[in-house]
Amino acid sequence: MSIIIDGKAVSKKILEEIKLETENLQNKPCLAVIIAGNDAASKIYVNNKQKTAGYLGFESIVKELPEDISQNSLIEEVEKLNRDENVHAILVQLPLPAHIDSSKIIESIRPDKDVDCFHPYNTAKIALNMETTLFPCTPAGIMLLLKEYGISAEGKHAVIIGRSNIVGRPLSWLLLNNSATVTVCHSKTENLADFTKNADILISAAGKPEFVKKEMVKEGAVVIDVGITRDTDGKIKGDIDFERVKDKASYITPVPGGVGPMTICCLMKNTLELFKKYHLKT
Ligand code: NAP
Repeated sequence: MSIIIDGKAVSKKILEEIKLETENLQNKPCLAVIIAGNDAASKIYVNNKQKTAGYLGFESIVKELPEDISQNSLIEEVEKLNRDENVHAILVQLPLPAHIDSSKIIESIRPDKDVDCFHPYNTAKIALNMETTLFPCTPAGIMLLLKEYGISAEGKHAVIIGRSNIVGRPLSWLLLNNSATVTVCHSKTENLADFTKNADILISAAGKPEFVKKEMVKEGAVVIDVGITRDTDGKIKGDIDFERVKDKASYITPVPGGVGPMTICCLMKNTLELFKKYHLKT
């Protein structure tokens, strides 16, 4: 019988702590979000971020830019926010329109306002296990879930499916920094199940609905599902075949209600952290 990891409850608890801390502040943290184009999912994500920021008493700014904005104009918008003394945290919603080089946009964000922690300066600090208090939101959320449920990564074999810059890669560093033995798999990995079957902690971030089957999971493994795919009927599906895998895992995250709520919670946590660093010079 496995324990279902309740990301919604953990996130709610952390958000309440943030709200309490924010209430006592004279100035409020300000999160600025840039969204370019008409991606429907991105609009929903940005709306949720703005709503959560409002709930916490944060200031928030959303800059909606047209699909055909040039790369230089987009960089100018980021630079305006870089210079704005009232903005503590900047997020550029991904994906950007195809003609824009996302890495150039991420590089244009001031590292000390980079709330997603995607700037090469911040990324390198994590990869090098240098002292830092900010981590990319989804990997940070996963580490918080493990901590909350008393699951130590030390000495465990952690297998990650996915090597993206926003999930798989930074998560591999965080797990390594926590003394796990880490294997990162991707679409070119041969015999994927040979790796997943040996995972004490299995994390899937491939975006392939229910592709991790029961036979691919070790008995008693901790299984974390990052995947979010919307079915044709509008239902959200994770990467893990939850109904069958749940009897084999010791702990498992559901989709929705697992990693998803933690991502937004860590975004708010990072916003507050940047505010404190910038405003209170901590
Ligand atoms: P991504 O950039 O598309 O990366 C997907 C990764 O999975 C790639 O590294 C890809 O390998 C690998 N992959 C794809 N098919 C595979 C297969 N059959 N076997 C092994 N590896 C495979 O996606 P992402 O941005 O990291 O997001 C991944 C999923 O997580 C998506 O469903 C996304 O919606 C979700 N997500 C959820 C949250 C949350 O808060 N819960 C946050 C971020 C993302 P290659 O590198 O070789 O192409």
